[in-house]
Amino acid sequence: MPLEPYACSNCGHWQRYFTVPPDCPVCSDVRNDLPEDGWDFVTPAALAPRLAFHWREAIPGVWEFWSTPRFGLDSHGWLLTYPDGNVAFECAPFYDATQLAQIERLGGLRVLAASHPHGYGALWQLQEHFAPEVLIQKDDLRWTKAMRVTRPYDSEFEIRPGLTLHHTGGHYEGHAILYDSERRAVFAGDALKIDFNDRGAASGLSCHKAYHKAIPLSPAEAKRYRGIFAKLDFDSVFTPFEYATGVDTAHALALLDSVIERPSTRPIRLER
Ligand SMILES: [Zn+2]
Ligand SMILES: [Zn+2]
Repeated sequence: MPLEPYACSNCGHWQRYFTVPPDCPVCSDVRNDLPEDGWDFVTPAALAPRLAFHWREAIPGVWEFWSTPRFGLDSHGWLLTYPDGNVAFECAPFYDATQLAQIERLGGLRVLAASHPHGYGALWQLQEHFAPEVLIQKDDLRWTKAMRVTRPYDSEFEIRPGLTLHHTGGHYEGHAILYDSERRAVFAGDALKIDFNDRGAASGLSCHKAYHKAIPLSPAEAKRYRGIFAKLDFDSVFTPFEYATGVDTAHALALLDSVIERPSTRPIRLER
């Protein structure tokens, strides 16, 4: 029986299944909410006409791919361009032909990675189209059935000089972040959550074990994040949902110091 891709309308997680799936493992997990109106799964053919597809260069050499209206958790995909092969981190909910053509124009895709399941989006689609290496930390393999991980890794993986994946654990067992020393940017997955004020400026920074249920990280988990972020010199943060320039290492360490002292999901105010 052929396996068809189905996306959960509540969170956007893709599964390949014989028929409409009985449930979504990401929504059934404590780190997401169940859909109030019951399960709703869509195929690519049903989803594509509902979305408009966008891209832009967020900062030099980093392209953002997303769609509107929001679908699932509304993940955004990041594409880092290099003369010797591009790297994608996190993925949009679905890619149409115009977005795939734009990635082709930018030089295709050599390596594809994501922080954790909330950032996977339609990763399987980019794998089908471009056949890149797929890097996922080994402790999250259980969530990757819709794609094929070609290179599981342990604590760190250097994709190219100055571009390194770091396993953080915490939010998810296999949660990982990507550090780009050349652009002084951290692709933080859900290790950091940025709030914005009415003028669109970053105004708060928080971290979570589970965002919807407001479960904080344990002190040991926050310490592990701190140990990793302290080694990274950055002033831009990209999550699967947003990005901000001017959010830096000192902000992340101030947040984590407060969480280590007193576990909380409340944002700290960003002094700008
Ligand atoms: Zn779901
Ligand atoms: Zn998450």
